[in-house]
Amino acid sequence: MAGFSFTVEARHGRARAGRLVTPHGEVETPVFMPVGTAGAVKAVLHRDLREIGARILLANTYHLMLRPGDALVGGLGGLHGFAGWDGPFLTDSGGYQVFSLTALRKLDEEGVRFQSHLDGTAHLLSPERSMEVQQNLGADIAMAFDECPPGDAPREAVAEATARTTRWARRSRAAHRRDDQWLFGIVQGGVHLDLRETSARELLEIGFPGYAVGGLSVGEPKPGRDRVLDHLDPILPADRPRYLMGVGTPEDLIDSVARGIDMFDCVLPTRNARNGQLFTRRGRLSIRNARYKDDPRPPDPECPCLTCRTASRAYLRHLHQAGEMTAAILMSVHNLFCYVDIMRAMRQSIRLCRFEEWRRETLRRLADAEQDGS
Ligand SMILES: [Zn+2]
Repeated sequence: MAGFSFTVEARHGRARAGRLVTPHGEVETPVFMPVGTAGAVKAVLHRDLREIGARILLANTYHLMLRPGDALVGGLGGLHGFAGWDGPFLTDSGGYQVFSLTALRKLDEEGVRFQSHLDGTAHLLSPERSMEVQQNLGADIAMAFDECPPGDAPREAVAEATARTTRWARRSRAAHRRDDQWLFGIVQGGVHLDLRETSARELLEIGFPGYAVGGLSVGEPKPGRDRVLDHLDPILPADRPRYLMGVGTPEDLIDSVARGIDMFDCVLPTRNARNGQLFTRRGRLSIRNARYKDDPRPPDPECPCLTCRTASRAYLRHLHQAGEMTAAILMSVHNLFCYVDIMRAMRQSIRLCRFEEWRRETLRRLADAEQDGS
């Protein structure tokens, strides 16, 4: 498809460093995509995202279809025109939110009927409707509509959801028309390796330019996730981008890149920032902790971000305790910088064939309990 390509440029072990080209710019992988749920990354300006080094943003189909409505966004130039971010966007399928946010829903082969969590109005999200919404939103990358069962669902329910995800992927593919948008398939199957394998092989038969691994941010234990990624690595095509949806901590990202993943998104850095938790190169730090009340050091003395150049822990703690919105802004900027910077260092280590060494050293530092060890 014109305007798109993905190239793996270097490998070390199973870790890959690559380049994703989209109509709105190039992205070096492995990459972390900040989450802009309603078309904005909470508390962070596009300008600051640029400075942080974020290159591609995620926006949520479910939220935008309900408010302000995908037709309205489409009429105003899609997400790029509406939100004013000229870099690449990716939209999720709406599947994950419709299963996690709506209490009143009815699932059948056609799709999911649900009531909006905002005003109770009735909606249908189906493969066809998800494609319509995502084509209106006009992100560079769209996702096939999937069924994402909870992490503790019994095997039978997971098997059923996985088979339906394949049928919905086929319908998504058929309903997708835009040739300036890539459509990725989503592998489901919970922690069951045979279901994961079947799901991946069926999606490969349908054929997508990229593959996501869904359903691994729904509370399953980490060894289960690692086993799934290990199992999928030789099955997923080596020359297509791989996206692990909704994961996770810096440690999770590093361990998943080690298993061949290229793309990530997660609300953790921004959500935790608003709750007063900072990610640093030496573990996490809770700004609410009284020990920081007169601490003149920046959140992370090794960090060159805007926040660490200008703000002390004492100041951030004060702003957070006082309920000042600037606290959320400054801490979101730092946390996103920390994530993006870890990805940057990771890419470099892969290119220099030093990934395993870098990984050991970085994980050791992240486990350092110099901070409050939370
Ligand atoms: Zn910083």
